[in-house]
Amino acid sequence: MTTPVNLIDLSFHELEAFLTAMGEAPYRARQIWQWLWQKGCRDIAAFSDVAKSLRAALAERAEVRWPEVVREQASRDGTAKFLLRLADGEAVETVLIPEKDHYTQCLSTQAGCALGCTFCATGRMGFRRNLTPGEILGQILVARQWLWDRQSALALRNLVFMGMGEPLLNYDNLLQALEALHHPQGLDFSSRRITLSTAGIVKNLLAFGATGLGSLAVSLHAPNQELRAEIMPVARSTPLSELMAALKDYPLKPRERLTFEYLLLDGVNDSPAQARELVRLLSHVKAKVNLIAFNPVPGIPYGAPSPARVEAFQDVLRQKGLTATLRKSKGADIAAACGQLRNEGVA
Ligand code: SF4
Repeated sequence: MTTPVNLIDLSFHELEAFLTAMGEAPYRARQIWQWLWQKGCRDIAAFSDVAKSLRAALAERAEVRWPEVVREQASRDGTAKFLLRLADGEAVETVLIPEKDHYTQCLSTQAGCALGCTFCATGRMGFRRNLTPGEILGQILVARQWLWDRQSALALRNLVFMGMGEPLLNYDNLLQALEALHHPQGLDFSSRRITLSTAGIVKNLLAFGATGLGSLAVSLHAPNQELRAEIMPVARSTPLSELMAALKDYPLKPRERLTFEYLLLDGVNDSPAQARELVRLLSHVKAKVNLIAFNPVPGIPYGAPSPARVEAFQDVLRQKGLTATLRKSKGADIAAACGQLRNEGVA
């Protein structure tokens, strides 16, 4: 027996081709696409405006399979974290973060991660595999359904690719997912609402910029090559000078700036001298900085900087005219904060 096609893994054009191969008119794809993405329907038999004969033929060859929710945890601050099992038993986490008037969702793009950043719980798992487009987007379907079930007054509006994995190392599947996200009959997210965070995969970074499908955030975390190579092994093969040179050519919209994420690790990268070094490093690009104070994670050898140290670091950046916001890391009590996502086993 052949494995049924998961319809949410198909691009719009692939769905058209799939239908054509079944002897159907390609325009049917538009109807089915709306059931998949706008209505979040998993039951092919319930696609009521699709001919019965087509529904029956589809059900023989295809299915609509979302990642399965294995565990759901709610934080005191309203953050919700989901552990999701994929068809082959791999697992990923995704997090819904409440903001003032909407939710932001943090999405995973890989099971595990090959880059091994020393402060990151995911990095310690090693790389398992890339997620398919349907597994990337399935996280959104699950979270949106969760909000619908609770009749949440706040809608899911922003997406950040900052969960497990390096998005630009799963580039083709990421691109397909982004295209589906922007499809007007699909989830219909504006590119202004999408941010992708990368540790600095230069070969795909400019390609992503050229698509205009989202904004870029760079996980920087160190102001010089030596320290960066120590805490982020990716910097050994892609030195900071190469990354900064590529970023100078990054296509920005008028008034847009590149975001640099900087995780403050106590006594490692959080001194005023390092803040000055960071200002110098970023002086040739249109930049803003998101500071995040590290959340202690069992087994990770770093401590949280004191609030005074965080404030002093931020002050240096601001005095030098660099926009620097301190991102409140939500969901720390359920290990949903930055760098804390990890598959703790679902078997
Ligand atoms: Fe991978 Fe990002 Fe973790 Fe680094 S911080 S190991 S790139 S998931």
